[in-house]
Amino acid sequence: MTDRTLLVRGGTVCDVEGGESRPADVLVVGDQIAEVGSGLRAPGSATEIDASGLHVVPGLIDAHVHVTAGTADLGGQAEDSPYYVAAQTGAILRGMLHRGFTTVRDVGGADYGVEAAVAEGLWAGPKVHFGGKALSPTGGHADLRARGRQVLDNHTCCPNIGTVCDGVDELRRAARHQLRTGAHHIKLMLSGGVASPTDRVDSLQFSAEEVRAAVEEASNANRYVTGHAYTARAVNRGLELGVRCIEHGNLIDESSVRLFVEHDAFLVPTLVTYEYLHREGAEAGLPPASQAKVSDVLEAGLHALEIAWRGGVKIALGTDLLGAMHRHQSGEFSIRAKVQPAADILRSATLVGAELLGAEGKLGVIAEGATADLLLVDGDPLEDIAVLAEPDRRLRMVLQDGNVVVDRL
Ligand code: ZN
Ligand code: ZN
Repeated sequence: MTDRTLLVRGGTVCDVEGGESRPADVLVVGDQIAEVGSGLRAPGSATEIDASGLHVVPGLIDAHVHVTAGTADLGGQAEDSPYYVAAQTGAILRGMLHRGFTTVRDVGGADYGVEAAVAEGLWAGPKVHFGGKALSPTGGHADLRARGRQVLDNHTCCPNIGTVCDGVDELRRAARHQLRTGAHHIKLMLSGGVASPTDRVDSLQFSAEEVRAAVEEASNANRYVTGHAYTARAVNRGLELGVRCIEHGNLIDESSVRLFVEHDAFLVPTLVTYEYLHREGAEAGLPPASQAKVSDVLEAGLHALEIAWRGGVKIALGTDLLGAMHRHQSGEFSIRAKVQPAADILRSATLVGAELLGAEGKLGVIAEGATADLLLVDGDPLEDIAVLAEPDRRLRMVLQDGNVVVDRL
């Protein structure tokens, strides 16, 4: 059987690394890009796609999602039917693909079954890098019990985003369990958060010994630990203990920026979620105790992004939306444009995301040998990133692994 061939002709290709766009054709053979250049010819059997007037952009990577979060009431979701949550997951994944995200990194909730459902074509959606359940201490960010509730639903089959573990032994067991199922990373709750009922945003979570144990387990498996953290205190402690990536980081300071650079670590801000938790959280099911926490981190997030960007931190794109708010995923692009140039935002959503996933040269780039994940967009995101914030109007086609998966040409 010969590989299917496809020629994307007459478009303007975004060279994200160089920050420039130039006219070029893209030849796709099977699931890979075979050639990028002018005046390419394809065999007679090839499918031709007329991209004239459009920009050819690498498939986008969202490095912080919860594809199983069908509601913002994460505590309630733990008691939902897994089948119902799976159906919600299928719809969430499909929405992401239609916004141009061809790969996502799930940091709490998705498991090997979600990855397989997409890989086997049962669900249309981005390729999923998963960490399984996020690990949280009792009373931490993934302990979603209301204050008066004693019973803990900690069974691995509950469709919740996290699991509770205390002490080095339990942490090792929980980390090993996620790794056993093929997790790409281990997610730790290193500070309090917004969507959890009983913790303070400025709390530290897990002891240094517990964090070290998780880092050791992950590195033994050639995987890494990523940590949910807001304050400079929580972020800095995590980075010093070997955590490779920090989620959110809204309350970091210059000392954190220095540590990110020193440890070559990644930061994944998720600004759009605070914007919409503030505006729509209540109707999406966010409990009142959580709504009150949103304003603490909303304003600080842009400043954190700006100092991290100026300080040369590796910044990936994340969104962290829950429930009905998933539809605002592309809003992250416009929010970042308040402090960052378009090219750097696009690099976050492509090159930096790929590096974080260990897929440099494969994902997030239009080059020979890369995976054929491509978008045809009306407008140049290197000049105006807002074109990616309006996928309904601007996104004309999505190719994933060389297949046309969204066609609005
Ligand atoms: Zn988080
Ligand atoms: Zn999250």
